Amino acid sequence: LPLPAPRRIKALAQDVVNKIAAGEIIVAPVHALKELIENAVDAGSTALEVVVKDGGLKLLQITDNGHGIDKEDMPILCERFTTSKLKAFEDLTSIGTYGFRGEALASISHIAHLSVTTRTKESSCAWRAQYADGKLVSSKPGQSAEPKPIAGRPGTQISVEDLFYNVQSRRRAFRSSSEEYAKILDMVGRYAVHCSGVAFSCKKHGDHSSGISVPVSASIVDRIRQIHGSTVANELVNFKVEDVRWGFKCEGWVSNANYSSKRTSLLLFINHRSVDSAAIKKSVEQTYSLFLPKGAHPFVYLSLDIDPQRVDVNVHPTKREVHFLNEDEVIAIICDEIRNSLGKVDTSRSFMTQS
Ligand code: ADP
Ligand code: MG
Repeated sequence: LPLPAPRRIKALAQDVVNKIAAGEIIVAPVHALKELIENAVDAGSTALEVVVKDGGLKLLQITDNGHGIDKEDMPILCERFTTSKLKAFEDLTSIGTYGFRGEALASISHIAHLSVTTRTKESSCAWRAQYADGKLVSSKPGQSAEPKPIAGRPGTQISVEDLFYNVQSRRRAFRSSSEEYAKILDMVGRYAVHCSGVAFSCKKHGDHSSGISVPVSASIVDRIRQIHGSTVANELVNFKVEDVRWGFKCEGWVSNANYSSKRTSLLLFINHRSVDSAAIKKSVEQTYSLFLPKGAHPFVYLSLDIDPQRVDVNVHPTKREVHFLNEDEVIAIICDEIRNSLGKVDTSRSFMTQS
């Protein structure tokens, strides 16, 4: 057979490239929301409200009371790689936050209608702007795209509307908005447990009652009680462990042997970002298999601080799965500590029943 002639190679149009890149970071509404929550927390907010319409596909709105955005920065806010959190490549290794790449808002602006209202302490009013494809756009044809002054409190409100409106294949992939809402509640719940000193609420647009509501002063156990119920909150054990050699500190609240669930709940934060780690999950489950009957699983909240130079956050553009140096050693120390804490609880119980 004759070889087919090679096809000529052509560059994709820039807007296609942008949409592809955005779709890799934001696969579902919950991924946009996670970025927005992290931004709000990074801005020093103590109250964070989330409103959701149609599982986040129609509307994702997040209002915070953080430091706000300077009006002068609004024109470049949604450009790719614009950030207030990273200045030199070297900072990548010492930065305390993962949200350092300045890509979240840019990505969202390529695949949704994005509007931002923000006010700093110094400003006498709030400023409101709309974005598309990384740039300021006017809300009505013929009007200027410049930010407009409006009344508003210090802080930032970001509204993401019609997510994936221009990526029909992705838009069609969502079967149920309640499934997407469940993922959103799960993510807000994770940050609401972890961020003590921050009030959280999350509800569907138009609903009076909240899916999640946590007051600013709630302790971690209160937060777990609010979100996951008293059954688990009453059976928690606290532990702390650190190791200078491997450059980490870990604090956790984990269920004792009296609690069990059909599936493991693992709320894992590494350097204050919610992440997944298959390796940690596996070891935690192995640890609990010594304490729980077959088919029974624990609730585990872990906040792990690792020397940022030891964390590899660039495994995947979504930053969902994280790896770090000496993973096996670090996980072993944490699981030993969990085993010790669970052992102590059991002894005290059998001691009590004996006496
Ligand atoms: P990154 O978080 O990686 O810097 P983003 O695209 O998420 O990139 O945000 C870009 C910049 O916009 C941030 O560095 C920050 O300065 C500003 N910003 C975004 N959201 C907020 C917010 N809720 N409050 C204050 N500033 C914000
Ligand atoms: Mg960010």
